[in-house]
Amino acid sequence: MHKMKFFQSVQFRLVMIYLLLILVAMQVIGAYFVRELEGQLEKNFQDSIKNSMTLLDYNVREEILKNGDNSAQMQTDIRELLVDYARNNSSLLEVRIVDERGKILGTSNMDNQGVVGQKSTTPLVKRALSLGTSEDKIYMDESNDNKRVWVTVSPIKNKNKVIGAIYLAASIESVYSQVDSITNIFITGTLIAMGITAILGILLSRTITKPIIDMKRQAYAMARGNYTRKVKVYGLDEIGELAQSFNSLTKRVQEAQAMTEGERRKLSSVLSYMTDGVIATDRRGKVILINSPAEKMLRVAHETANGKPLTEVLGVQDEYEFEDLMDMTEPLTMDRSTVERYVLRANLSVIQRETGFVNGVIAVLHDITDQEKVDQERRDFVSNVSHELRTPLTSMHSYLEALSDGAWEDKEIAPHFLEVTQNETERMIRLVNDLLKLSRMDGGREHLDKSFVNFTDFFNHIIDRFEMMKKDSIKFKRYIPRTPVIIEIDEDKVMQVLDNIISNANKYSPDGGQISFFLKKTADQIEISISDEGLGIPEEDLDKVFDRFFRVDKARSREMGGTGLGLAIAREVIEAHGGRIWAESNKRKGTTVKFTLPYSDLPEDDWE
Ligand code: ADP
Repeated sequence: MHKMKFFQSVQFRLVMIYLLLILVAMQVIGAYFVRELEGQLEKNFQDSIKNSMTLLDYNVREEILKNGDNSAQMQTDIRELLVDYARNNSSLLEVRIVDERGKILGTSNMDNQGVVGQKSTTPLVKRALSLGTSEDKIYMDESNDNKRVWVTVSPIKNKNKVIGAIYLAASIESVYSQVDSITNIFITGTLIAMGITAILGILLSRTITKPIIDMKRQAYAMARGNYTRKVKVYGLDEIGELAQSFNSLTKRVQEAQAMTEGERRKLSSVLSYMTDGVIATDRRGKVILINSPAEKMLRVAHETANGKPLTEVLGVQDEYEFEDLMDMTEPLTMDRSTVERYVLRANLSVIQRETGFVNGVIAVLHDITDQEKVDQERRDFVSNVSHELRTPLTSMHSYLEALSDGAWEDKEIAPHFLEVTQNETERMIRLVNDLLKLSRMDGGREHLDKSFVNFTDFFNHIIDRFEMMKKDSIKFKRYIPRTPVIIEIDEDKVMQVLDNIISNANKYSPDGGQISFFLKKTADQIEISISDEGLGIPEEDLDKVFDRFFRVDKARSREMGGTGLGLAIAREVIEAHGGRIWAESNKRKGTTVKFTLPYSDLPEDDWE
C-alpha cells in the first residue's frame, strides 16, 4: 500500500477549500469595507474642518472689511484669529489667509511669520482666487516622513466678489492610521477565523474522511484476502449508504472467493490425484500449470517447467513448433525408451473461445511404457513362436517329401528319416507343452499345489535320477546338509525347475567337467545353487537367459533340443513361490544358476 501524503488527502483538500472560501470572502468584504470606511472617515475629517472654517471665513471677512487699508492692524487681528483657530484644531498644520491678489495676510505658524506679506505661489490658491471655487488635495509631505497632508483653499467672498482665500493644511494621517488599525483588526480577525475554521474543518472533514479511510483499509484487507472486517456505518447519509453497500459487497466477494477457492481446490486435487499428467499452457505455449504426475513423467519440477515453452517441457522442441502441436489431431507419442526407458502419449486439445481466439492448450499425458512393452512382447512372442515352429516343420516337411519321393523304400535311410521327423515332432510337442505351461502361469490359472516337503531328500532324489543318466565323464558333487529342511512348495513345478537347470548344466558341461550342487539355509529362506564348468554365459546375457526364447547360441541350443523356454518357466515358478532366480557366470569357471525359496520354520516335533 503506497503511503499517501497528507496534502494529497481529501481531508486536506476540504480544509483548504474552507480556508480559501473564508479568505476570498474576507478579502472581498475587507476590501469593500476598508474602502468605504476610508472614504467615510476622510469625509468626516474634511467636513469637520470645513465646518470650523465657515466661522473663520466669517471672522476674516469681517476683519478685512473692517480694517480696509489699515494693513498693520489687520495683520495683527488676523494673526490672533488664526492662532486662536489653530489652538482649537489639533490636526491643523497651518492656516493662512491671502488677499484677493494672493498676498499672504497671516499664518498660524508662529515659526513662519516671515512669509506674511509675500505673494503665495501655491497653484491651488491662484486657482481659488481666479475661479472663486474652493479646491482641496491630499499630498505627501516629503519633508515630514511622507505623512499625508490635506490641503484646502476656499475663497472669501463679499457679495460674489472674491476678496481673499483661506489656505488650510491639516494632517489627515490620523484617518489613515485609524483605517490601518481597523484593517489590522480585520486581518487578525480573519486569521483567527481561519485558524478556527482549519481546526473545525479538520474535525468536520474527519466525519467524511473517516468512513472513507475505513473503507480504504477494508479494501486493502480484502485485497489481501481478509474478509472478516466490516466497515462501521456512522450515519445514513450518502457515505453511510456507501459503507453499507461496501459491506454487502465484501460479503458477496467473500462468497464468490470462497466458491472460486473451492473450485480451485477441487480442480487441484483432481489434477494431483489423477494418474494422467496434465499440462496447461497460455496462448503462446508457455506452461502455466503442470500437475505432479506430469512432473514425474517428464522428470521436471513445476518451478522449472512453469513459463517454459510446452515443446521444451515435452522435449519435442527439435521436431515441432507450438503451432504444430495445436494443429495436431493424432495423439503425440514421445518414445524416450532409448534414453529413459519410457514412452509417453500426449493428447492435446486447444482451448478456444467461440470467437476462435485461442486461450491455450491442454496436454494430457499417459504413460504408455508398460502398454508399449506388453505390445512389444506380444509381437515378439508371436514371431518367436512362429519361428520356433517353422524350423521343425520345414525340416519335417523336407524329410517327409523325401520319404514320399521314394526314400521310404530305402531300408537304410527310411528309419533314419522317420527318426528325425519323430524327434522334430517331439520337440514341437515339448515346445507346445512349455508354451501351455507358460500361458497357464501367465493367466494365473495355474495355482500352486503346495505341500510340505523335506527339501534335502527331494533335492537328493532329483540329483540321483540325473546321476543315473549322466555321461560317465561328468562328475557330480553335492554340498547338501544332512539335516532335513522342511519347506512348503509345489513339488511338481519345483521339480521341473530343477530338471531344467540340471539338464542345462549337463548339456553345457564339457567332458570331465564337474557339476556341484549346493543347499544353504538361512533364517527365512533356502538358497539352491547348481554350478557347472561349461562355457558360461556372457555377462550381458545373464538376465536375458530367463526371457522367453532367449538363447545365447541359437543353433547349438536347438541342436540340443532346447526350446528356449526352460529358464523362463523356471523364473515364473520360482517367483510364484516368492523366491528369486538368477545366474552367475564366469568364462573360465562356467555357470552357476541360483534360486531362493522362502520358508517358515515349523516346530520340529511336528515332524518327528
Ligand atoms: P534351452 O531349452 O535352450 O536350454 P533355457 O531357457 O533352458 O532354454 O536356457 C536358455 C539359454 O540359456 C540357453 O539357450 C543357453 O544359451 C543358456 N544357458 C542355460 N543354462 C546354461 C549353462 N548351464 N551354461 C551355459 N549356457 C546356459
